[in-house]
Amino acid sequence: MNGKQCFSCGTHDGLQYFEGRSFTIDFKKMTRQIGDISGYECRVCGEIEFDDGSAERYSEASDQLLIDCRQLMAAEMKRIRRKLKLSQKEAVKLLSGGGHNAFSRYERAELAPPQPLFMLMRLLDRHPHLLGDVQALCEGADLRRLLASLDQERQAALAS
Ligand SMILES: [Zn+2]
Repeated sequence: MNGKQCFSCGTHDGLQYFEGRSFTIDFKKMTRQIGDISGYECRVCGEIEFDDGSAERYSEASDQLLIDCRQLMAAEMKRIRRKLKLSQKEAVKLLSGGGHNAFSRYERAELAPPQPLFMLMRLLDRHPHLLGDVQALCEGADLRRLLASLDQERQAALAS
């Protein structure tokens, strides 16, 4: 069944049939193999067109991976928050900002946590003692000192 024209680069006889091939699907660094895929590949530009059955399985597997990854991230968010002994409300105040129910939405997989927040949670999972620093930084004394010295410089500049 060779000899189809490539819909992408237009090469006549470009598409060549393949079957029994495995593809890797990935989402946020998490991957799964999906096997026994068949379809056409262009020998010139590499464009791939799956057969109907394969396309359906590929798309279902991608959807399932996305759902599983969301749930996995949600479970991690909850596990780490509990390990840090924070309520959802405290976690919002210290770590994420935003609406008061932000963490509840992350933990129910309604919403994927923003990447920096997820990274912060995973770092705190590895180094829970850093929560003390988070609390201190959240108080903002260091920023207030910086602001005060900025004010002093400005006054000194005005006085000179
Ligand atoms: Zn092509």
